[in-house]
Formats: sequence, C-alpha cells, structure tokens
Amino acid sequence: MRSRGHRSSGSTLWPERKSSVTDNFVKIITGDGFVRGFALNSTEIVERARQIHSTAPVVTAALGRTLTATSMMGTMLKDENCAITVQIKGDGPIGSILCVSDFSGNVRGYAANPLVDLPLNGLGKLDVAGGVGRSGFLNIIKDLGLREPYVGQVPIVSGEIAEDITHYFAVSEQVPTVTALGVLVDRDYSVKAAGGYILQLMPNADESAIEKLERAVAKVKPVSTLIDEGKTPAEILRALLCEFDVEILEQSYKEYRCNCSRERIERALISLGREELLKLAQEQQSIEVSCQFCERKYQVPADELRHFAGL
Ligand SMILES: [Zn+2]
Repeated sequence: MRSRGHRSSGSTLWPERKSSVTDNFVKIITGDGFVRGFALNSTEIVERARQIHSTAPVVTAALGRTLTATSMMGTMLKDENCAITVQIKGDGPIGSILCVSDFSGNVRGYAANPLVDLPLNGLGKLDVAGGVGRSGFLNIIKDLGLREPYVGQVPIVSGEIAEDITHYFAVSEQVPTVTALGVLVDRDYSVKAAGGYILQLMPNADESAIEKLERAVAKVKPVSTLIDEGKTPAEILRALLCEFDVEILEQSYKEYRCNCSRERIERALISLGREELLKLAQEQQSIEVSCQFCERKYQVPADELRHFAGL
C-alpha cells in the first residue's frame, strides 16, 4: 500500500482478455513418477503488469520472469487458503521486486523502480541481472494459513531470476529443479511473448533423471522463443520430456489478479496506529491510497481516519 500514489493509471488500462487463449498453464507428472513439471504462457499476465505499472523493458522482463515463477509456485501450494510471496531484493537499480500468487496461480506484483532503463547486455539482451543486481536476497514467504508463515531466504546467485529460483529449491527445499523463464519485449515495448517452466525431480527419482532433464533443456530453444512460435505449455513440456511418458494433471487459465478492496485498505490503515492516523487526518481533508499491485485508488476522508483511530 502506498498513500498519495503519483502515477496515473487504473482499470481503464486493462485490456479485455483475449479470447484466443483458454488454457495457458499445464501441470504434468511423468509416467514413472520421477518428474513433475509446470509450464505457463504468461504473455497476457506480463503485458497486464506492464500496462498497470508502465514498466520500462528491462523491468518488464525482470518483473515478468518473477510473476511467471510465482504463479507456477502458487500452484504447488497445498490448499486454497495458502498464498506465496516471492521477493527479490537485489542491489541493482530496479530495487525490490515483489510478487504474490494465490493457490490457483493467479498472480500480482510490482517492482520498486519501474522506469529503470539500461543498455542491452553483452549478448544483446535485456540486462535483467544488471537491473536486479548480482547480490542480495531471494525471499520466499508461504502463508500456509498457520499463525507463522514459512520464510525461506537464499542469496541471489545470478540476478537472472530463473537460476535464483532453481538455487532456492535446491538449498531451501532440497528439490533438484530446472527452471526456465523468459520475456520477449516487442519494439513498441509491449510483451511479445512470455512464459516459463519448472521441472522437479520427485524424491523417488532415479539419479539419471536429472541428467536426462539437463540434456533435454540444453537442446531446446529459449522458452520465450518457443512461446513466440506458438507452442503451448503442454507442447513445451512434451518436447522437454520426450524421453518420458507424460501425464497431464491440470490444464487451466492463470491471470494477473489483484484482490485489493476497500476493506483491505482500511485494515492496512488501521495497522498504522492511532497516532499516525490522527496525524494524517489533521493534515488533509482526505487521503488517497493506491494499491501497489493494481494502482487502483481509494479515497479516505479525514473523519473516517479519525473513526479508525477510535475517535
Ligand atoms: Zn489492487
């Protein structure tokens, strides 16, 4: 939450959902039970984030990759009251990136500095690692409906995000994982293609399975290229897992979704405490609070602030 938001935006910027895409997510398991896989075409999700936050290309890529990973990690949660927050706190100019997914994989997020502009890196690509920074922390917060959330923290290893997510799974959850994330930004700065996949070895897996996976991943094109070519998430996983039988567990549609409401904004205001509320009420006739995830604006008059303060 942020009071007195400064960027103009709002729901009018949100495009109608394209009817051509029905399923953009797939979850699979291999017939031998050794590998589970998740793949997402996040083009519409990342484009929506870009429109809401007016992100510059390198931020579109960094935020887009994080949104894509967070959505897939949301679908790993066990029940519907759970949520996951992925926060990348690097020392680069983008600052902190924060994304939240619900249990269904519907996701929202923002970057602290959406307008960061950087030259392309040595490979002629958007310099995501340069924007995020090569040191700092990746924090994973899982709200499992218990009193205390689960918090995992690992140092940033590359700033390219996919490697950082892989590292998190290896270190914090001891799950050998292959992660690919990609965002292609078009000439007009809109999102041309975005997506990713996560492949994980199950505890009973044969040791050769991870090598098989790594060989397969090394052979395939970047995930954003595959999506740009029109490959579906299921086709991408089938191509990667061509040496395995693949059983589809779920095919569904994930979207950029914010669940902010007047009630949530009020709760956040109340948490500021009596003194701060009275100070705000004294300073202005009303305050404007904008949601950091969707930029929706809420007007709160001073007498309501006084009411929250218990007066
Ligand atoms: Zn919102």
